[in-house]
Amino acid sequence: MKPQRIVWITLIFYVLFIGVRFVFMLYPADSVKLRMAQESTPSASERRADNLWAYYLINDENPLRADFTVGLEKVQGDFMLDERCAGYAKRMIDDAAADGVYLTVVSAYRSVQKQRENLDSYIKRLMDEGYTSKEAKALAEKEIARPYASEHNAGLALDILTPDWWETHDDVTADFENTEQFRWLTENAHRYGFIMRYPKEYEDVTGYIYEPWHYRFVGVYYAGRIKESGLPLEYFYKTNF
Ligand SMILES: [Zn+2]
Repeated sequence: MKPQRIVWITLIFYVLFIGVRFVFMLYPADSVKLRMAQESTPSASERRADNLWAYYLINDENPLRADFTVGLEKVQGDFMLDERCAGYAKRMIDDAAADGVYLTVVSAYRSVQKQRENLDSYIKRLMDEGYTSKEAKALAEKEIARPYASEHNAGLALDILTPDWWETHDDVTADFENTEQFRWLTENAHRYGFIMRYPKEYEDVTGYIYEPWHYRFVGVYYAGRIKESGLPLEYFYKTNF
């Protein structure tokens, strides 16, 4: 082989190698992300430093206890959160407004009773649309948590939309992601301890559809780490507790 050709082939392989590495760097596999998250596991004192009380899983497998109670505080209008994180939410809403972005809370704390009513009425609506009761239940439970299994029941979650949302929508939909409110939240929510809880890429892991409007308080420290990791809380929590 001509020396020139060898140089070319080597060069092509080199460029390919760098290219593949670059792509892996940009889109690390979940296992790599998990390892990265694990490697930067904080010390016990670091973890204690910020609202560790709020760092736990609430879902179908990890429902709230039947005797769960929570002290509440108003965040916007009559919408309330756990009094320990209400201040963070209020500061977030105020700081967004100072940037000219108006975050409108449409749901916050929800009692278990209300959760049950919401789920039942949605199942009924789907059945009216022609689904069997089994189908309706399965569909509804992808969008509305069972009683005790919702972060709203714990007073830790906010649903946020734009002030004029209902003028152009009759439902909460994923196109919230095209608003300046979503852009602001994506950039800033973690600074106030909130994460966008149900990402698009992890519907199978969270069991929920993509909900760009749903923000969950986990404390400032963990919100930053989770955002950085790009992982859903289910994965992150497993390796960081
Ligand atoms: Zn929600």
